[in-house]
Amino acid sequence: MQTDVLIIGSGIAGAISALQLAKDSQRQITVLTLVEDALESNSRYAQGGIVGRGIQDSAKLLKEDIIKAGAGLSNPPAVDQLANLGPKLLEKILIDEIDVPFDRDDQGDLVFGLEAAHSKQRIIHVSDMTGKSIMTTLLNKLEEKSNVTLLRNHTAIDLITFPHHAVDPLKIYESPICLGAYTYNQNEKKVIRILANQTILATGGLGQIFQNTTNPTTSRGDGLAMAYRAGARILNAEYIQFHPTALYNPGPTRFLISEAVRGEGAVLLTPNGDSFIEKYAPEWKELAPRDVVARAIYWEMLHNDYPHVFLDISSIKKPGEIKNRFPQIYENCLKFNIDISSQPIPVVPAAHYFCGGVQVDLNGQSSIPGLYAIGEVSCTGVHGANRLASTSLLEGLVWGHQAAEHIRSLPNKNGFSEKDVPKWFSDNLRYEPDPALIQVDMASIRNLMWHYVGLIRNQYQINRAIRDLTNLRSEIENFYRKTLLSDGLIGLRNGIQAAQIVTHAASQNRTSRGAHYREDTKI
Ligand SMILES: Cc1cc2nc3c(=O)[nH]c(=O)nc-3n(C[C@H](O)[C@H](O)[C@H](O)COP(=O)(O)OP(=O)(O)OC[C@H]3O[C@@H](n4cnc5c(N)ncnc54)[C@H](O)[C@@H]3O)c2cc1C
Repeated sequence: MQTDVLIIGSGIAGAISALQLAKDSQRQITVLTLVEDALESNSRYAQGGIVGRGIQDSAKLLKEDIIKAGAGLSNPPAVDQLANLGPKLLEKILIDEIDVPFDRDDQGDLVFGLEAAHSKQRIIHVSDMTGKSIMTTLLNKLEEKSNVTLLRNHTAIDLITFPHHAVDPLKIYESPICLGAYTYNQNEKKVIRILANQTILATGGLGQIFQNTTNPTTSRGDGLAMAYRAGARILNAEYIQFHPTALYNPGPTRFLISEAVRGEGAVLLTPNGDSFIEKYAPEWKELAPRDVVARAIYWEMLHNDYPHVFLDISSIKKPGEIKNRFPQIYENCLKFNIDISSQPIPVVPAAHYFCGGVQVDLNGQSSIPGLYAIGEVSCTGVHGANRLASTSLLEGLVWGHQAAEHIRSLPNKNGFSEKDVPKWFSDNLRYEPDPALIQVDMASIRNLMWHYVGLIRNQYQINRAIRDLTNLRSEIENFYRKTLLSDGLIGLRNGIQAAQIVTHAASQNRTSRGAHYREDTKI
């Protein structure tokens, strides 16, 4: 299959790029998502909102807040681009062009919310379902574009890079370039070569490699692993942001219990009903920064062998107030038979956001020509060592737009054709993918990452993780080389590689900074 631009991922970053590229009617754009429902992605679950330009706010103030949250590691030109261009693009694309129904007051003006570590009220939202509303509007717009093809249930396996995948061995002396991706069509159980002039990775984060995560099943580090195998430069992979409170429920994916619940006065309790936060944050208590609260909960669980702690709003607010203020959280908890208006909520910390990724410039270009990375899979440097709340949707919007504009400024050809690139070879594969093996190996990765490369790290645990992950990787590669493909198998192979990338980065960085908290080498 041939297309002009291949976009791997239909979250906010991929969808914005597709929308912008589609304005050039000469270009054919193909968007992949590994699930049936294109809405399913991290973007769909964003609750809080997206950063806009608040009243008496400025790019300078936003920049200062981002750099402070990033613990001094944010890339200034990238932060400048986000702070200057972000609110303008939000207005131009999300409000004027596609008309996302953001909350407005009686006069019709946007309502700006305040979130932790923001110096101004600048978060715009659609109640507590901002991501779902943005993505529904965006995907509906994309459906109208005749030059955009959305392929559901299609999992990218590996990037096609030249000369690595060249038919002619003498091409090895030529410079590298990305030419698309080998992709698994889950419905037909076959691999297709998708050749493209430019390829954009928009595959999101990697929360699923941790035992507890707020991320849906699409976030397993596929893009990171594919880019790494292709030789792209990866940056800041040790910085994983953990959210303090996610609903404790069966399975690794935890529903996020927003910080606003603590903002409304909810208290943290042990399973015995005792308050514990004062030991860890006597000044701030429940309103301490996200990472401080997350570590406090983690310590309590670890040292007392609790499976979770409780967050109680029912003893603070009246039932009616709770249901009005947190309709989505109330409904979701009820699905697990927890009535938050009369019961405490069992919560655990959970892996939430990947601050590192495929290193890119201001246009989203990676170190491999022809390959772009945008959104959570990329590392623009905006977030440094920790992310300021509600900046990631904006980053996906800005870099999605910039990558599309950069591609539109290039000629719509690359001089390669199907005869230069080999077909996918699978004649030697014998075994059916065993779901039990895939599930157990994935559970082992999650367990290892949670306990050894999680919220609190030390070199002894990291070394242990490196050894265990190396053994597991060799088992998984062995199994992968002999087994017929499935989406789960592709995810497992990427999951182990993403885990190794994070662990090696954590091992090499002895400085405790931001989301990389080392108990053995604190500064
Ligand atoms: C619960 C929750 C709440 C959040 N709240 C906020 C908030 O309020 N504000 C904010 O700014 N940020 C928030 N975030 C973070 C933000 O949602 C994400 O960082 C952002 O949406 C990432 O967008 P993306 O386009 O990069 O990736 P995603 O939205 O995750 O999209 C990834 C896409 O890639 C596809 N994909 C992955 N691998 C493959 C493959 N191998 N082949 C084909 N397709 C593939 C997936 O199917 C999906 O379509 C929140 C995150 C979560 C989980």
